[in-house]
Amino acid sequence: STIHRTDYTPPPFLIDTIELEFELEAERTTVTSKMQLRRNPQAAYCPELQLSGEALQLISLRLDGVACTNRQIDEAGLTVYDVPDAFELTIVNACEPASNTSLMGLYLSNGHFFTQCEAQGFRKITYFLDRPDVMARYTVILRANKAAYPILLSNGNLIEAGDLPNGKHYAKWHDPFAKPSYLFALVAGQLVALEERIITHSGAQKLLQVWVEAHDLDKTHHAMDALIHAIHWDEARFGLELDLERFMIVAVSDFNMGAMENKGLNIFNTKYVLANPQTATDSDYANIEAVVGHEYFHNWTGNRVTCRDWFQLSLKEGLTVFRDQEFSADMAAAGAVNAAAARASQRIENVRILQQVQFAEDAGPMAHPVRPESYVEINNFYTATVYEKGAEVVRMYQTLLGRDGFRQGMDLYFQRHDGQAVSCDDFRQAMAEANQRDLAQFEHWYSQLGTPYVLVRSQYDEAARTYTVTLAQHYKPVLNAPYTASAPLLIPFAIGLVDANGQDLALQLAGEGAPGTATRVLELNQAEQTFRFINVQTQPVPSLLRDFSAPVIVEYDYTDDELIFLLAHDSDPFNRWAAGQRLVTRTLLALARQAERTQLTGNQLNQSIIDAFGRILRDETLTPAFREQVLTLPTEIYLAEQMDQADPAAVHTARQYLRTQLANALSHDWSTIYARHQTPGPYQPTPADMGQRALKNLALSYLSNSKQSAHALHLAQTQYDRADNMSDRSAALAALIHLGGQPAQAALADFYQRFENEPLAIDKWFALQATQQRAEMDLIKLVRTLMHHPAFTLKNPNRVRALIFSFISGNPAQFHATNGSGYALWVEQVLALDTLNPQLAARLARLLERWRKFTPALREQMHEALETVLASVHSKDVREIIDKALISAP
Ligand code: ZN
Repeated sequence: STIHRTDYTPPPFLIDTIELEFELEAERTTVTSKMQLRRNPQAAYCPELQLSGEALQLISLRLDGVACTNRQIDEAGLTVYDVPDAFELTIVNACEPASNTSLMGLYLSNGHFFTQCEAQGFRKITYFLDRPDVMARYTVILRANKAAYPILLSNGNLIEAGDLPNGKHYAKWHDPFAKPSYLFALVAGQLVALEERIITHSGAQKLLQVWVEAHDLDKTHHAMDALIHAIHWDEARFGLELDLERFMIVAVSDFNMGAMENKGLNIFNTKYVLANPQTATDSDYANIEAVVGHEYFHNWTGNRVTCRDWFQLSLKEGLTVFRDQEFSADMAAAGAVNAAAARASQRIENVRILQQVQFAEDAGPMAHPVRPESYVEINNFYTATVYEKGAEVVRMYQTLLGRDGFRQGMDLYFQRHDGQAVSCDDFRQAMAEANQRDLAQFEHWYSQLGTPYVLVRSQYDEAARTYTVTLAQHYKPVLNAPYTASAPLLIPFAIGLVDANGQDLALQLAGEGAPGTATRVLELNQAEQTFRFINVQTQPVPSLLRDFSAPVIVEYDYTDDELIFLLAHDSDPFNRWAAGQRLVTRTLLALARQAERTQLTGNQLNQSIIDAFGRILRDETLTPAFREQVLTLPTEIYLAEQMDQADPAAVHTARQYLRTQLANALSHDWSTIYARHQTPGPYQPTPADMGQRALKNLALSYLSNSKQSAHALHLAQTQYDRADNMSDRSAALAALIHLGGQPAQAALADFYQRFENEPLAIDKWFALQATQQRAEMDLIKLVRTLMHHPAFTLKNPNRVRALIFSFISGNPAQFHATNGSGYALWVEQVLALDTLNPQLAARLARLLERWRKFTPALREQMHEALETVLASVHSKDVREIIDKALISAP
């Protein structure tokens, strides 16, 4: 059942138009589909027509108006034999939305109808050529009870609507753009909308709507603002205009992913739409802006130009993540005093996720290239590699070609491929031809799996005043995956040289007549290459891979002093942060090794490191947002990943130890910071205020880890009581939970009462408890208790993520308890979700895929847990993950 990329063949039939009629009823919905089909001149002749269909009941089938019996049905779908070259097919079938817990196809959430069709959900609605290279024009008629479902939405434009007998009504929608079935959507229910009208570039008026349940209407303004900003940004940066008369966003509580870019009718997880100051944190506000932008940008990169097959997923996802990252950076810069710093903080956040999640994925059994070679279940390939590494691959085009060159490539891409389903190669070709550049070598970024390492060696020749840098690319052998480089990659490697005064040198390569810029993008296109800089008067410190110019790991033997120097002076803010992270990671790993042998007591730290971080903390010329990022320690998962054998307990001890040391050594600074970075006045999610709150709340967190717990308790309690926004309230609650005792219990009770009717806030209530770091707290017991709370349900993915996923990722030391109690919990929940919601179950299953990386005692127990799941798994989603995890290392 493995599908291979190289097996692609064009579809034997094309579908030009489809008319869909829905009789919407919760228990059993009837779907009538009338399609105009014809043989694809581009494909090999095939006498029969094979349509995909899952969990459907066929009611009737007519070919050119005549009942058709020359057909067969199996689990995969419907086959119609001996069809003519062009014909009309009319199918009537039924599906069962109320019993659909997979959240794919047509389902119910809070009593409203929603659909999710990407990647292969349309086949759970009706029989169809459910593949992205079959693009049809859709007309949709929805009929439903008017009282229960007053709002009826689908893609495109509303053509007509009206009442029907028996308390029913209908709406007819037409989407003028041909689209693949994965972009189909419908929504029906009791919803209300925030509306805006805007004029776009060409002078056309557009209707924008954000649809929610009535009690959430006060939480739609931020999403609407983000949508308007996104529309203007895509016009300004890429010359891309909204192509429909109306654009709708609908919020749904039960959703597997973040959101979905259905043509003209985006459907969003409530988490990425709803915000008011009381219920949403600063990160929620930022995520909403990013996801609203992301889905809107798909309208061109994904919908107007779509994917030929699912192996090309990164064609739309990598590109659209890149576009949403650029949007967020431009928005942050526009609202900031220091635009460059705001941009850098955005970049740091993006890279942090890549390094934590994607690098780990690329070193484990699920490692795959940005353009995967094979899959069993495509839903398992909506991954950090396809999305985040894919975005880095797109960013490298821009780094190599410049902003203007990249824009020219985009223009050519749309000129050539508007209305088509294409491949990653087509995108690369457009970039190459628009810039008259040979980008053949760049293809390896799409086919190579594993994170490349770039080993850097440098040599200063004092007599010749030259500085030589040698870059060598290679892969490290990792468990499970045979990483050999098929060919060298083209790596844009940005570099600067910092002199003893902390100033950048104007770089001049051998052979160049004059010194140039301070940052140079070297193009590494061989296994090893040497670059010689001339007129270098004193020995510099190299600043490597500035702004993270390529998704690689840099190996260079920096001394602690050099890292402290770069942390203090590098003109590239990203690399300043990176120097700090390198330093602190090194320190934490040494402490973890020590913790494996002996107890960590007294002061084990190099004072110069504490001083270096203290100087950043006190440096008022740096933005609060940046200082917060520098002083945030790497996560336990990231640290465990850096060990030869992951030891979660040792990592936890080391990290808690360093937190306490930094808390106590800098306690005076933390108190000052806390007092100084208040944000008086009404809540505003501006980059400046968000930075202030982030730094202040980091200070509160450090103080609650310091000796001054009474002081911290007072601050946390006061902040909790007075908070007018969720960032401050949840940070205060986290500190109170950490400090424990009666105040923690009282605050938890208050928080629950206050937000009982706000599911997204209750998610935070679960997550804050599951991620607490109190050593004496038995979290597995707590998680089990919370699973019996009346507000917990396995049917809501946000709730499952809030409690179970947060616990496992936030508290690896307790999850990996040596008695195996964490793994027992994992087995139970994977199997429980396996039948309910395979997609979510597979995500949970992945949390044990790195089992081979752990210390022998843990490894063995994890192996057993995986075997237990394998013995009773039903879904191919989970089976694929477990199979890959267990496959013996080559
Ligand atoms: Zn996307």
